[in-house]
Amino acid sequence: MKIGLYPGSFDPFTVGHLDVLWHASSLFDRVYVSILRNSAKQPVFTEEERVDLIRKVISDAGIDRVEVLTFDGLTVKHAKALGAGYLIRGLRAITDFEYEFSMDALNRHLAPEIQTVYFMAKPEHSFLSSSKVREIGSLGGSIHGLVPECIEKMITERLAQQ
Ligand code: ADP
Repeated sequence: MKIGLYPGSFDPFTVGHLDVLWHASSLFDRVYVSILRNSAKQPVFTEEERVDLIRKVISDAGIDRVEVLTFDGLTVKHAKALGAGYLIRGLRAITDFEYEFSMDALNRHLAPEIQTVYFMAKPEHSFLSSSKVREIGSLGGSIHGLVPECIEKMITERLAQQ
């Protein structure tokens, strides 16, 4: 059974994340989307909010074989505990590549048996990040088309309170 782990901050989940998840779910028997709890970044959305948002998207989009979790500590340790042989990441631009390149080297050092697979962002998503969504939303701009429609209202309302 091929199990993939898609780790990230997802603060909040965007259409770019959803695109990666769609493709991953068609390749793996099971995919765990797992939210990093101990990120150095101070998240805007709580852990529970992010879990709820992603679960809503998965159920709305009808994606099978996907489960949402949270974790802290080393990603490869979490992957091993789940029996996942693959990490799933998205690549937008050169800046992502540099970061992913060094993370891959470190993860291989820690767990050579785990491979990371990368999905290229759609060109129209290459500019899209959670931080841009937070910025636009908290300044009162429209985030329509940037986040899955079923969670747009929840995210808009939450960011308006910032
Ligand atoms: P992290 O804090 O681990 O970078 P993110 O939530 O920002 O977590 O992103 C999780 C993963 O999804 C990363 O691999 C990131 O490159 C990828 N990703 C983020 N935005 C997009 C996008 N617009 N298109 C494709 N992949 C993306």
